[in-house]
This record gives sequence, structure tokens and C-alpha cells, in this order.
Amino acid sequence: MDQLNSRAYLDLWDALDYQLDAVNQQAGLGSALWSLHEHQVQSGFIQDDLNTIRRFRMPCPINPERAFSAQFNPARGRRFRGAGAIPAADSDLSINGGCFLCAENIWWQQQGAEIGYRLRPAGGRYTAWMNPFPVLPGHAVIASREHWPQHWQAPGSLSLHELVDDLSTFSELLPGWLTFYNGVGAGASIPHHLHFHAIPRPAGYEIMPLEAAAQRCRQSGRVLWEYPLSFMHWGGQRRQILPEAQAWVEEWQTGSGSEADATANIIACTSPSADRLDLYFIPRHQRRSRGEGLAGIIGGFEALGEIVCSSSEDLERLERGEVDYDTVTSLLRHVSVAF
Ligand SMILES: [Zn+2]
Repeated sequence: MDQLNSRAYLDLWDALDYQLDAVNQQAGLGSALWSLHEHQVQSGFIQDDLNTIRRFRMPCPINPERAFSAQFNPARGRRFRGAGAIPAADSDLSINGGCFLCAENIWWQQQGAEIGYRLRPAGGRYTAWMNPFPVLPGHAVIASREHWPQHWQAPGSLSLHELVDDLSTFSELLPGWLTFYNGVGAGASIPHHLHFHAIPRPAGYEIMPLEAAAQRCRQSGRVLWEYPLSFMHWGGQRRQILPEAQAWVEEWQTGSGSEADATANIIACTSPSADRLDLYFIPRHQRRSRGEGLAGIIGGFEALGEIVCSSSEDLERLERGEVDYDTVTSLLRHVSVAF
């Protein structure tokens, strides 16, 4: 792989796209992304097999069928330093400051080992890459092909209306998966390049605490009291709820969303039978990106109800049982924004 030049890389990429398109047509986008995952394990790009991840369940003392969870995932702590083991310092080839999500950088940074899947939906504007620091097996990043900013306030960015559109398009193609957008200061580790997360839901993750809270509310609208983090929820058939959600976020973007520190998480989940879409919009504040007490930043996955810890200090606290349901409640409450 070391000798791979740009032309050979592009040929390899074309061949992989062709293979993955065939899988996609036969078995759907989820299967195509799993094939990409397999390819990236074989190429050596994905080395962390997640054996080091440990999961802790923290039931509510009053209502034990409700629970939060925490995972100890030491690799996640390294993600802010970018992907891969050997980023070559080749300034001639570097564009956009060596951005880790620009394909032009990826081929030399990862020495040809990292290849994505050029997606056709959403106007062909995105490429799927495997996340080298996954929160769960099969964790993919769906990044814009152009170097567009993550934040809707930045020049040249997509609007929240468009972000919701594109995210829900991918969700619809990935029934049963968790898909989400982390705004700048709300969990985005690469703030300069637009990307979404797509995570297959493994056994044991049938319904996340945030989803359960929305279900208890029964109808679309604000969820303020059922969950420590306030959010908007729309659930139902995609063609019905999408215009409603987009009208709401458009109004929010020009109001609270235009304030200097405004940010958000957007989560889209299509049911395994593909007949229902649930959309969640969580207003956030950039100066409250992390909860008090634990080291990690609260992004979309944490907002769903699983805290990701990566430091040895946090692991010790988890092992001693010092992190419980109330700890997670107060973490989420701390980053919650009144709206
Ligand atoms: Zn970029």
C-alpha cells in the first residue's frame, strides 16, 4: 500500500464503488456499508476491533426499566487528533489545512488504506467513510464531497432545512440505524467539514433512552419533562413529518439558531420495517459542549442516552460505581438549552 499513487488509488476506488453499488442494489445501503467496513478491516485502516469497549448499564433507582448507559472506549479519546497512524507531512499534497475528511488528503494521509463509498442519494453530494474511532461496530461517517463547513452559520454551508433533508434521506435508506448530525460545539470533532454519523444498532440497543422518552410523549412536539435534555420530536411517515420538521427548524435557524453560540444535534431514526421516521432536534449551546464531572463531550450518541468515556480516571469511576443514573441525568441536564 505504501507505493500506491493517486492514479492507482482512484482506480481502486472506482472498482470498490462498483462492487458496493452492486451490494447496495441487491441488499440495501446498510449491507453496502458493512461491505465497506469489511474492506477497511482488510486494508488495515480499521484496526480497533472494539474489544476494549466495556458497557455499563445504570438503571433508574425509582423506575428500573428506565436506564442510561456508559461505555468505556479508550480509542474515542484520540479522535480529535484525526484518523490513522501515520499522517505524512507532505505539504504539496495537502489541501484545506490537511482536513481529515477531504478525499484529496485522505489518500496520502492514510497511504491508500482508507477508501470510502461515493453515495448517489442526496444529489450525490456525500461519501461514506468508516470511522476509525467507532462508538459501535460499523460506525460510518457520511461526509460532503466538497469541503463545506459543519456549522449552518458559516459561509457556504447548508441550511438546517437542507441538513434535515439529507440526514433523513440517509436514515430512510438505513432502517434500524441511528443517524445523526453533531453541530460545532455539540460533539463535532471535525468542525470544518460537513459530516453525519451512521451507526448500525446492535443487539441490546433496541431503543435508546431519548427515543423511549419521545415514545412516552405519544405525539410530536417539544419534549421538556420526560428527559433531562430538552428536544423537539417528530414521528410518523416521512412525507408527513419532514415538512413539519423543516418548517420548525427554518424558523429556529433565523431566531435562536442565529445567535453566536447556537448549535444543535439532529438525530434521524427509521424503524427497522422502514414505515416510520423519528426525527429529533436538540438545541445546544457551544459553551456547554460537555457535562460537568466526566471528561467527554456530549454529542448525538450521548444525547441518545449512552455516555462515552475514554480516560482511565473515568473508567475507575465507572468501576467503582460512582457514575450512576443520576450522574448521567445531571450531565444531560447541564447541556440542555431552554427553547
Ligand atoms: Zn475537508
